[in-house]
Amino acid sequence: MNFKLIYPRWPKLARQTEFHLPPHGPVVFAAALPQDVDVEFVDENLEEIDFDRPADFVGISMMLSSQVKRGWQIADTYREKGIPVIFGGIAAMLHAEETSEHADAVFLGEAEGRMEEVFADFKNGRLRKVYDYLNDRPPIETVGPARREILKKELYNYRGIQMVDLVHASRGCRFNCYPCAVSYLGGRQFRPRPIDRAIEEMASVDNKRLFLVDNSLAQDTQWEKDLFKEMIPLKKKWCCHPIEDTPEVLDLAAQAGAWYVYQAVFDTSDYIKDRIKRYHDHGIAVEGTILLGLDTHTEDFIKRLIDFLLEIELDLAEFTVLTPFPHTRAFEKLRSEDRIFSYDWDDYTADKVVYNPAQMTAQRLQEMLYYAWDTFYQQESQQVKMSKLFQQVMRKEKADNTYQPRRRDLVHQAFGRPLRK
Ligand code: SF4
Repeated sequence: MNFKLIYPRWPKLARQTEFHLPPHGPVVFAAALPQDVDVEFVDENLEEIDFDRPADFVGISMMLSSQVKRGWQIADTYREKGIPVIFGGIAAMLHAEETSEHADAVFLGEAEGRMEEVFADFKNGRLRKVYDYLNDRPPIETVGPARREILKKELYNYRGIQMVDLVHASRGCRFNCYPCAVSYLGGRQFRPRPIDRAIEEMASVDNKRLFLVDNSLAQDTQWEKDLFKEMIPLKKKWCCHPIEDTPEVLDLAAQAGAWYVYQAVFDTSDYIKDRIKRYHDHGIAVEGTILLGLDTHTEDFIKRLIDFLLEIELDLAEFTVLTPFPHTRAFEKLRSEDRIFSYDWDDYTADKVVYNPAQMTAQRLQEMLYYAWDTFYQQESQQVKMSKLFQQVMRKEKADNTYQPRRRDLVHQAFGRPLRK
């Protein structure tokens, strides 16, 4: 049976350098499919969908709210041809009701152990409109290695440099941050995969550079330390969301190949300053994730914050505006206060203001977002900062003899100047 799995296109942040990482959701989902299903994967961010190519069944995998309207269009086209469509992924869960209007079936939840039932229903012509397993999660031990072979790997590069491959060692998050839907999607319980299974998968990935896409590794200190210890012999270099910043954890992370972390910077405190310094002292770079537009944010605060980011020498920064995604506390609060003025999901890109901020107009917050990008990258462009990050990882790779020389030429070519050793 020919199953076409499609990842709809979505717009990148307006000021961000454009590159494409290999998607994670579709390859994890593909690993849960029955053996007899032939999967053809199309990432619409990088290739056109050929609607005339035959398919028995179409799956649409959506991660972001800004993918859903395009996902619905794609589904409508296939369904007009009489080909059934099933939706899954994070954004299908956040927008389930509207999505079901464009679907033969919507799958909510984690796919492991569920797809035999769904595909049997498809073969018997009795697909259910909704498969709701959102609160009935499969045992974490059943998460197998993702099926990365469905990706066209050559498409995922930045000016010839191979991008990181995405892996995960855990699901769930015990926190419930104001703008985040993870507690709705993955539950408040931290669910680590068995370390040997996660390590086995990382070892099998044909790429020395990984992105550990776990929500946060800073959830269980002992597990985190055990994971890093087991990662040391792999000699991979990796980025991730936050890790604990105690000397012991940071030391193990550095030995395990930590390259850079994504770290939310939400104020100008010594706590943040010291935290960033501790990462840097361990040779770990930091990409700040900076969310603008919380109710306490004034124009002065945002200006001070940008000065602070430059002062603490963040290696990269990504600026977004608060976006009230459905099933978040932010959505409930702003909706109850009647402050959301756009429910057009195409606007939910995280770089468009869709609500009335407390301390300034929506227009002014939009301008402050551009001010943040432009000021942070005024002295040194994003490309130069990115090239410095690549130089850092190459130094690490050279230090443990995992550097692949052919990349040097590609990086040189990409940034147009020789690289210092
Ligand atoms: S923002 Fe990160 S730490 Fe907070 S709830 Fe979401 S995943 Fe967890």
